[in-house]
Amino acid sequence: MGHNERWIFMNGKYVRKEEATVSVFDHGFLYGDGVFEGIRVYDGNVFRLREHVQRLYDSAKSILLNIPYSQEEMEQAVVEAVRKNGLRDAYIRLVVSRGVGDLSLNPNSCVEPNVIIIVDQVKLFDKELFDKGIKIITVPTRRNVPDALDPKIKSLNYLNNILVRIEANRAGAAEALMLNSDGYVAEGSGDNIFIVKNGKLLTPPGYVGALEGITRQAIIELAEKLGYDVREEPFTRHDVYVATEVFLTGTAAEVIPVVEVDGRSIANGTPGPISKHLMQEFHKLVKVDGAKVYNDEPAAV
Ligand code: PMP
Repeated sequence: MGHNERWIFMNGKYVRKEEATVSVFDHGFLYGDGVFEGIRVYDGNVFRLREHVQRLYDSAKSILLNIPYSQEEMEQAVVEAVRKNGLRDAYIRLVVSRGVGDLSLNPNSCVEPNVIIIVDQVKLFDKELFDKGIKIITVPTRRNVPDALDPKIKSLNYLNNILVRIEANRAGAAEALMLNSDGYVAEGSGDNIFIVKNGKLLTPPGYVGALEGITRQAIIELAEKLGYDVREEPFTRHDVYVATEVFLTGTAAEVIPVVEVDGRSIANGTPGPISKHLMQEFHKLVKVDGAKVYNDEPAAV
């Protein structure tokens, strides 16, 4: 296999990157009708694969999209796709769209879903951002309300998040926070938020309206194991401004410290000890918690 050759899984077959195309009549393209996952591979370990596949199937169930594979088959397909691409560190994008239909938005015209697994090299965030922390803002666009499009569904309809991202870009901020329609902090455009208040870790509960992040869950479990008091509790922008530490979690963001929010510096404006501790422990966890791609022992260090 050539160094940069990429094989894409498309409905049970592998095709080269250049040939991996989808019809313009696919309702994923026409209407954002579908679901997806972003997953990381760390040193041959697909981090929390089972949980990602579970969330994909939960999202699909919610939008009445029937995926023509069992969850076990999907997990195997993901592992196989990573192996086929020969990568030890990778970013996986799993997409299931409603499939090809006619131009009406009615999904009844779509015969079968398109199931796609893309495995590519990870585009790492600038290391400096993890060391120094990032500056973020809150934006006017609110998180989708759960009674319209539930933020727990990881659907292909990401326009809410994209608008937030555009607002962050225009303000020159690294990321932006969305509030829910009641004014409570929900999440970032592509990550969950934690704050430290009186030595306790707080993250918004599910009912505030955010994606149930796999990294968020891993951090809750990790922090509890390390003896921190973790609570799922709603909080406002004010709580964020006066927090002693703030960090974001996500498959792409991993655990990233936040040192400024809306022009207010968080504590002394440098990443705090709890954030650093969790970052360190998270980097150990990602190599062992999940599904192994290769049948080898980790290299001795
Ligand atoms: N919120 C949103 C809106 C996201 O898109 C993501 C990324 N999937 C997250 C939170 C973080 O979730 P995870 O840790 O599962 O990547």
